[in-house]
Amino acid sequence: MKKTLQQLATWLNDEVQAFGDTVVTGISIDTRSIQQGDLFVPFRGEQANGHKFVLQAFEKGAGASLWQKDEPNPPVGVPLLFVDDPEVALQQMARAYRSEHKAKFVGITGSNGKTSTKDILAGTLAPFFKVQKTIGNFNNQLGLPITMLQLDEDTEVAILEMGMSGFGEIEFLTKIARPHITVITNIGEAHMQDLGSRVGIAKAKFEIIQGMQEDGILFYDGDEPLLKELVAQEINLNAQSFGLESGNLLYAENIEATAEGSSFKTYGAIEGDFFISVLGEHQVKNTLSAMLIAQKLGLSDEQIRESLKHVVLTDMRMQRVIGTNGALFINDAYNAAPTSVKAAIQFIASSTIRPEKWLVLGDMLELGLEEKSFHEGLAQEIHTNQISFVCLYGPRMGYLYEELKKRFDDDHLLHTKDDYKPIIEKLQQANNESLVLLKGSRGMKLETILKQFTL
Ligand code: ATP
Ligand code: MG
Repeated sequence: MKKTLQQLATWLNDEVQAFGDTVVTGISIDTRSIQQGDLFVPFRGEQANGHKFVLQAFEKGAGASLWQKDEPNPPVGVPLLFVDDPEVALQQMARAYRSEHKAKFVGITGSNGKTSTKDILAGTLAPFFKVQKTIGNFNNQLGLPITMLQLDEDTEVAILEMGMSGFGEIEFLTKIARPHITVITNIGEAHMQDLGSRVGIAKAKFEIIQGMQEDGILFYDGDEPLLKELVAQEINLNAQSFGLESGNLLYAENIEATAEGSSFKTYGAIEGDFFISVLGEHQVKNTLSAMLIAQKLGLSDEQIRESLKHVVLTDMRMQRVIGTNGALFINDAYNAAPTSVKAAIQFIASSTIRPEKWLVLGDMLELGLEEKSFHEGLAQEIHTNQISFVCLYGPRMGYLYEELKKRFDDDHLLHTKDDYKPIIEKLQQANNESLVLLKGSRGMKLETILKQFTL
């Protein structure tokens, strides 16, 4: 973005008091990461008041700053834009910038796989377009507008992740982003607490079509009956499905995991053999949606095939790490919910990369009243003939421990409520025959364990 303070004021139906010609080239809400020329946006948070950092923002190179009108003592002699509410102003500016931007906008939601899909798609498109995407997990009512305001004017494809924890949030985000292409990666169990049921979760994700352009298209997980049902109810919706079942517009078969990644064959809208350096059937599904979008944006099957080979994913999503003990760790410690944990266990169980399989599982958080049954339910996926050792970490994993005790003997099962140490000690026994899955909710910080096995 490159705008004068005067232009920002026009977007906000506001007036500049001075410094109208000042140019801002980006946006920042944090003085620690501010870039030269950024517009600083201060919030009154519970912990701190961002207005206290405005002068510091200028010292670090901010071009201008917003200032909430009822905040006392605005600094003088610096370019300020006075607004009623900085958060609302941020969203308003994002809407305005969006309406003049020429990029194709892609909005991605779903219970799991948003960031993975975003990264796979960005990697696939990067050789052909100028692509920008949500950085990290900036996917909420602040992160999304910030991402949008950071888009360069010549960006051709903008890939935006949209997260939520309740009804109405995706609708709000999609109406700011007004995407040409939308994706629903899957429906899981996260945020059950707020949405009541999987039906509720599906409906909340489906809100993404409410902001979609009239001639836009939705790509969705066609293996999920709840989404199929919602699509069927929208007669005028242009929607295409991807998945592992043969009824989908694009589907994959013969998924084979190697130490390098996954190879698979696709049928339907794109046919042929493909390879991507990510692991797990769920990641292949994310890849399928990226392939459909790439096709929609004009790439040939051959271009898609070549490009996919070079895609690299963000840390902690089925990331492969060789430990100092020789074991091959699959670090999926970024987050965990029942669907993604089951998918990861199935991947480990069916993998032939290494003969001996270990699971290190941490609590799944935010599951609401049914958390006990969700933890117990994982036992159905864990079989003594496939898995050699199971290490469980966290109080909720106690539920799974009780279930597994019925089948595994003590040498092959370990549970600690709040101490990584016994698990680290046990893992000393893993070696170059072992494949170790690390998976738990973000709050469980299972990467702490992996750190003991990396240099
Ligand atoms: P968040 O809501 O935390 O932003 P996200 O939707 O961005 O999550 P990712 O970060 O891509 O999701 O992946 C989170 C976890 O879900 C990872 O452990 C990953 O292996 C798993 N996962 C990714 N894609 C899928 C999928 N399509 N189905 C099930 N699990 C998946
Ligand atoms: Mg994410």
